[in-house]
Amino acid sequence: NITACYRAGTSPSEPFDVWPYAEALFRYLVRNKYNQNLGRKFKITFEGCAEDHSALRIHDIGFWAATRELNGEIERGFRVYLGGGLGSTPHLAQLYTEFLPAGEIFNLAASILRLFDRYGERKARMKARMKFLIQSLGWDDFVAALDEERTRVGPIRLADHLPDRRGSNSKPIGPNGLKLLHRGTADPEFRSWVRDSVIEHKHEGFRGVHVRLKLGDITSARARALADVARRFSSNQLRVSIGQNIYLPWVREERLLDLHRTLKRIELGDSGVDTVADVTTCPGSDTCRLGIASAKGLGSAISDAFDGHLAAYRELARSLKIKISGCPNGCAQHTVANIGFHAAALSHDGRTVPAHLLSLGGQTTPASAQIAHLIGKFPAKNCIKLIETLLRLYEEERLDAEEFNSFVARVGEKRLKELLEPFRSVPSFEEDRSFYQDYGHENERFAVRQGIKGECAGSTVAESVPSIDHAGEWLAQAAAFIYHKEYEQAMLTAYEAAAAAARVLLYQRLVDPFTADEALWEFENLFVISGQTNGAWERISSRFIELKGYEANENTAREILNEAKEFVDYCTNFPS
Ligand code: SF4
Repeated sequence: NITACYRAGTSPSEPFDVWPYAEALFRYLVRNKYNQNLGRKFKITFEGCAEDHSALRIHDIGFWAATRELNGEIERGFRVYLGGGLGSTPHLAQLYTEFLPAGEIFNLAASILRLFDRYGERKARMKARMKFLIQSLGWDDFVAALDEERTRVGPIRLADHLPDRRGSNSKPIGPNGLKLLHRGTADPEFRSWVRDSVIEHKHEGFRGVHVRLKLGDITSARARALADVARRFSSNQLRVSIGQNIYLPWVREERLLDLHRTLKRIELGDSGVDTVADVTTCPGSDTCRLGIASAKGLGSAISDAFDGHLAAYRELARSLKIKISGCPNGCAQHTVANIGFHAAALSHDGRTVPAHLLSLGGQTTPASAQIAHLIGKFPAKNCIKLIETLLRLYEEERLDAEEFNSFVARVGEKRLKELLEPFRSVPSFEEDRSFYQDYGHENERFAVRQGIKGECAGSTVAESVPSIDHAGEWLAQAAAFIYHKEYEQAMLTAYEAAAAAARVLLYQRLVDPFTADEALWEFENLFVISGQTNGAWERISSRFIELKGYEANENTAREILNEAKEFVDYCTNFPS
């Protein structure tokens, strides 16, 4: 899975076009024996611009274009980051080298894939990403193993795989100034569209143009019409941007007015692209089997709010990114958004309430990338009020030109949590029924679907707050199974008891694992590896998986039940 910056070949800030290198690596790796049997997915991206348009540091391998002077010649290469990934345990990729000569990218990629193939996890699915391999080996040992592997793999010629396009932009052309006002019009709508959608180009006389797709959606009829627009206005080319919009890379400046009129005719001429109103969402519960609540419903409501009562904040918050995922898997990349939400559920008055976990302060800019901080869980109906409250505070208290993420860091989690605390409460059903309905699904009773399996994870989250009593009930049930000589059931039930106890502590950290396996793994991750158990319960997740896998008989059932009891006791007494 290889991507490149959607502005490649057109950006005035790129030292060279990265597209041919991405294409060459793609050709080299397709059907390559090194990656036919990996434990799980592997993502590579190439960025050329000075700014980040490809979320470089959340990829397994991120190549960022760089040059250096060598013997009077300009040499092309890449700054390389390794081991990033999102999901419920997000990691930022770490810097492997400041400069990897372009001719060595195949050697590096092949060596990493060989390591991942050899040492990467295969049984526990949620651990089968390179970020966990790096975590388990430790960064220094991983780099040492990689360097050794690179020597073993040896040189692989890049020139054999480079497509013809290489060199088409070999003469660097300086940036050309962007004229915000088109000579032919003073129409405010056109000016606003130009301001938001049209960007500078590497080549004189051209512009890059974004076409806004609200929430990333487009109908088939409009897609056909847009293909025609690309043929007429952009040399037959269009690209999909990481912000779920379309980019027309080769538009002549004098055709902008005509292009805007054409886009308006097919209802794709809206301004606001890449601004705070351009919310990113995953499919959420509307079409994804794993979705808990409607990400698109909330995204649409937030976007509308910036056209309505939040319009006063549009300029202040112009560059902020709001992203919403329908579950903790994070397909909308909410953990690297300035304001991120992921869907969950709350129980109130015996009913289920759609909710979202708010995280603040994430970004992917390579030099200052950071994972957002989790602030808390709120009913879905209060999410727009959260945004309004945060923006009001930002407006009132920011220092000169202080960016939102710096502001969030300065104000601190404690104060933000206190400020937002009133929005955690849920009114009774009689008081306000709208809290019990999801955005986009008004007049429907909200419910979390149970037991659904899918690509990204297992069953959906539990509806109720985990309690240690629940773990105790599983233990009693397991003991009853042993009494009735149903040993296999007893072992599975004891395993669930341990997971239920882990969930209690995880819930206090706002982590809501999907499955029992994941609960034990997250416990190991957050409590054991972090040192909070002082060495107790090392490798707990693999230990319980091992116990569960024993041949079922009375002895093995009692063994897992005893360990589960011990673990439940441990969690009961764990200082909160
Ligand atoms: S798995 Fe979760 S985050 Fe990914 S698309 Fe589905 S609901 Fe969204």
